[in-house]
Amino acid sequence: MDVPGDAAEPQAPFDWTGAEARRRADAGLVRTLRPRPAEAEALDLAGNDYLGLTRHPDVTGAAAGAARRWGAGATGSRLVTGSTELHATLERELAAFCGFEAALVFSSGYAANLAALTALTARGSLVVSDAGNHASIVDGCRLSRADTEVVPHADPDAVRKTLAAHPGRRALVVSDSVFSVDGDAAPLAALAAACRSHGAALVVDDAHGLGVLGEGGRGAPHAAGLAGAPDVVATATLSKSLGSQGGAVLGPARVVDHLVNAARTFIFDTGLAPAAAGAALASLRLLRGRPELADRVRAVAAALHGRLTAAGLSAVRPDAAVVSVRAPSAAEAVRWAADCRAEGLAVGCFRPPSVPDGVSRLRLTARADLTEEQIAWAVATVVRTAPPTAAHLG
Ligand code: PMP
Repeated sequence: MDVPGDAAEPQAPFDWTGAEARRRADAGLVRTLRPRPAEAEALDLAGNDYLGLTRHPDVTGAAAGAARRWGAGATGSRLVTGSTELHATLERELAAFCGFEAALVFSSGYAANLAALTALTARGSLVVSDAGNHASIVDGCRLSRADTEVVPHADPDAVRKTLAAHPGRRALVVSDSVFSVDGDAAPLAALAAACRSHGAALVVDDAHGLGVLGEGGRGAPHAAGLAGAPDVVATATLSKSLGSQGGAVLGPARVVDHLVNAARTFIFDTGLAPAAAGAALASLRLLRGRPELADRVRAVAAALHGRLTAAGLSAVRPDAAVVSVRAPSAAEAVRWAADCRAEGLAVGCFRPPSVPDGVSRLRLTARADLTEEQIAWAVATVVRTAPPTAAHLG
């Protein structure tokens, strides 16, 4: 006898994606890819080219030169054929600039974070992770076999209590130096003190700090007096201030040696493309020669924030280059960003799942190469296109 339902057509394997797409559309959370034209059509306050170096002729020239000399791809993993002199030079100069003993470059900052979190922990280790940490840290925690305790955002007391509750465990505390959505800085000195009183290591993701914070852009660990410490490791991306692509882990030489031998995203991933290594090295050398770039990007961020708040918008005081402006809702954030875009201003729009419900944001990024006129026009555009309720968010 037929049972109702038996006769139902079996679902094709990816039919469920339709329901997911409808759910996203109903919530106004559909994401689409829009190719960026090569020639800027809009003033870009959405990207992460904080120092304006990605199109600098020295940087693009170095990328082209490296590709010609070493090839368009690394050809293999770093341990097989993917290491060149360029990689070694970049690692040496990056470590020296940031004040660390050694550095290791990866194909992305994402891979660098996965490496640090998986290779510096073991089953039974404790990882204490800030609730606002970047997705790559969250994924690193998941991939590690450690027990992860997520603590409230920027709360060294919570870190201390969590470490105290697990005496004798191998422990690692991990935090962004600058949080990517709100642009606020982590209390690194207090986190380091908490770590030291419990024998824990500190891993700092300096993706948004390198090139922006610290003397001449040496990064947040350097600014906090933590660079080169035996118990501190930094991770970084080559894709923001350095205008290239790739990532890095910086720390004591013995930690870097360990990563070469144990980090799966190093061992089993094709090495950083020579062009990316060459471009990052050229940017690093430009930054070294022009320490005022870091001061300038922070001044631009402060100017954006000052003018936006003076106009009544709710913006988080920036500790680095990211300026976050609160939106009344996800839908209004989307509309607001689209209105800015229509006026010729590209801004970031953060909404779930990138941020929790109820805290959707426009995200403006300062750039060292913005002129006073561009800053004034960008702020006027954001204010002019603001949803009527945005000024009342407080
Ligand atoms: N950490 C943080 C805080 C980031 O913002 C990003 C990039 N969005 C990454 C890590 C990942 O770096 P990459 O883009 O080089 O993979």
